[in-house]
Amino acid sequence: MAARPMPYLDGLNPAQRAAVECLEGPVLMLAGAGTGKTKALTARIVHLLTTGTAKPNEILAVTFTNKAAREMKERVAGMLGQAVEGMPWLGTFHSICVKLLRRHAELVGLKSNFTILDTDDQIRLLKQLIKAEGIDDKRWPARMLAGVIDDWKNRALTPSKVPVSDASAYNHRGVDFYAQYQARLKDLNAVDFGDLLLHMVTIFQDNPDVLEQYQRWFRFIMVDEYQDTNVAQYLWLRLLAGAHKNICCVGDDDQSIYGWRGAEVGNILRFEKDFPGANVVRLEQNYRSTEHILSAASGVIRGNSGRLGKELWTEARGGEKVRLIGHWDGEEEARWIGEEIEAMQRGTRGLAPIDLNNMAILVRASHQMRAFEDRFLTIGLPYRVIGGPRFYERLEIRDAMAYFRQVISPDDDLAFERIVNTPKRGLGDKAQQTIQTMARSNGVSLVEGARLAVESGQIKGKGGKALHQLVTDLTRWGRLAGDADTTHMELAEIILDESGYTTMWQTDKNPDSPGRLENLKELVKALEAFENLQGFLEHVSLIMDNDKQDAAQKVSIMTLHAAKGLEFPAVFLPGWEDGLFPSQRSMDESGLKGLEEERRLAYVGITRAEEICTISFAGNRRVFGQWQSQLPSRFIDELPEENVEVLTPPGLYGGGYGAAAPSGGGGAARSTIEDRMAAADGYNSPGWKRMQSRAGERGLSQPRESKSSVIDLTATSAFMVGERVFHQKFGYGAITGIEGDKLEVEFEKAGTKKVVARFVTAAED
Ligand code: ATP
Ligand code: MG
Repeated sequence: MAARPMPYLDGLNPAQRAAVECLEGPVLMLAGAGTGKTKALTARIVHLLTTGTAKPNEILAVTFTNKAAREMKERVAGMLGQAVEGMPWLGTFHSICVKLLRRHAELVGLKSNFTILDTDDQIRLLKQLIKAEGIDDKRWPARMLAGVIDDWKNRALTPSKVPVSDASAYNHRGVDFYAQYQARLKDLNAVDFGDLLLHMVTIFQDNPDVLEQYQRWFRFIMVDEYQDTNVAQYLWLRLLAGAHKNICCVGDDDQSIYGWRGAEVGNILRFEKDFPGANVVRLEQNYRSTEHILSAASGVIRGNSGRLGKELWTEARGGEKVRLIGHWDGEEEARWIGEEIEAMQRGTRGLAPIDLNNMAILVRASHQMRAFEDRFLTIGLPYRVIGGPRFYERLEIRDAMAYFRQVISPDDDLAFERIVNTPKRGLGDKAQQTIQTMARSNGVSLVEGARLAVESGQIKGKGGKALHQLVTDLTRWGRLAGDADTTHMELAEIILDESGYTTMWQTDKNPDSPGRLENLKELVKALEAFENLQGFLEHVSLIMDNDKQDAAQKVSIMTLHAAKGLEFPAVFLPGWEDGLFPSQRSMDESGLKGLEEERRLAYVGITRAEEICTISFAGNRRVFGQWQSQLPSRFIDELPEENVEVLTPPGLYGGGYGAAAPSGGGGAARSTIEDRMAAADGYNSPGWKRMQSRAGERGLSQPRESKSSVIDLTATSAFMVGERVFHQKFGYGAITGIEGDKLEVEFEKAGTKKVVARFVTAAED
């Protein structure tokens, strides 16, 4: 019988081929970025099928995202030359565990039609439990408890297994609440995300017959991105592979970037212990990136300690150096990147044109996306945001926008519904029903209905009081919108502050709350480019409409975390500034753990690029209308000089690099002048000095002399506690506290308020 053709083996190097052909027994492929781990894993699936070693439903293949699963299915089909029949068990840990848990729900006291709670539901449930115990959920927020419980679930700990060392969690009540919460979920026939794995581990541990069934069933197990598995996932795999040990895991310790979510890079190191005699395959040739890009990435990751250490090489000699450029601020960075993208699309500096689909912008924090989305909308550059909502679709942004809409158009009932009980004002379904009825029967808007409901005493008590306050505030904010002395940025901050919306997230202990607060700051920053709130709201509805754009070619915007495993010919890495990347949190932490994880993230970012990698930073960023000067990221200093080319920013030295002068539009012209003036002042910022010294070493021209100072970078703390001040809206008062650029002022008439320093002037006694 003639052997079946195996063309997919031809495209592999000997080490990959060894990993692919070694079908029985444990295999660990431990190798750096772009060395073809995912490719080999995919070829291994194809090999199992082609040789008839396994049927599609006997292969369990775990990927990190649904997108990766889809791609792997397509690649398998491509290599096989035919659509794959089945492969029902190729997916993420979660998607596979949902299917399994539906079959065996009764073993953990659930019915097979259980519901999966999202984070909001989870929090709501925890709040009920906390309230029932009479605990002050301001001091001990439900989100904090949710974080503690998630952490235990990631570590595969059921309530009875939580170790004594964790007993003090959540004010010594954590374990107790965890048990209550699990019991409540059972009553509701519901699970949360963490349960999907935890329940499956429990089922396998407590029911050897079930485990054996699956050990027989899943004869071959494959795992991509193994470095990011948590303990629960690890145990689940170990149980399933325990009998036959046909498990192939691929990963890269240098790309472990989910430690903050419970991933244990130690799982990789433990593999050889758990599976003695494992075939450990190391791949060293990188097929993705050119030499300069690879060397730059290696240079950065070398700064980490405790690495397994891997040397990578590529045949793609030379190529473009990693390009480094500093900008005056984030808006200019976005403008420049937009122009570069268009230049690359046309083909620039003798390089072949690059499709938009082949370019990506990878950011550290999601709030960075806003500047790019706005800019690309303005110049009509199609883009897609991968792995999360677009900036203006985010929960906190939609909430804030609803407040603005309600202030500008009091008849906007949809906006009112959204804000009336956000933050919580003690208005339950019944109260909201009353408002609806009142509005309908009087033929008025909801906000008017609410006013009538309060005035006629139909909504009383705490809720009634809070509603009265909201209605009064809305009227006052509406008046301010027409007040020439109040800028719309100030109004936006007033609305977010006084409505309690900002406070809601400040007191929220969930790990993503700081990100949401950052997004809100970013929202206020976005307002500066518009005349008023109305104009801004129109702009956003345009952006949302732009979503319907179905251009075939789009540039991708995503976080570095979402970019794992992907590759693009051209990659932009903006915002390399200390405090942003590495994040402030990682820098504040004692020890190097956080910082090393950030460094791995930098390594992931650079290694996504095939041909052109552009790193940028801004010397200044505006936060709540205040200039803050930034230091370039410490990771920039770690890039080997010989692999980096420092570019000259446009507008400063006359004429830009590569791209033509800033393109069209009155807005662009105006901001260029502003930039020049502002940049003149920005030369004093430390970021620029460092940038300049690097540029100087490379023989670039020095900036022209700065003329007048237009922006006072030191305005922040020009005030002292006790000082008497005047505020346009609240009148005279005395400062009782200073927090960054915010002042707490006890106003003579308006009471104590938090105001932004720049809207306050010193008053003469
Ligand atoms: P990461 O760590 O980023 O996930 P990886 O190790 O999974 O990377 P792959 O994505 O599998 O790497 O491969 C990187 C690129 O190299 C892909 O474009 C792939 O097609 C190509 N490649 C892999 N192996 C070979 C090979 N032997 N010959 C030619 N190209 C290859
Ligand atoms: Mg991969």
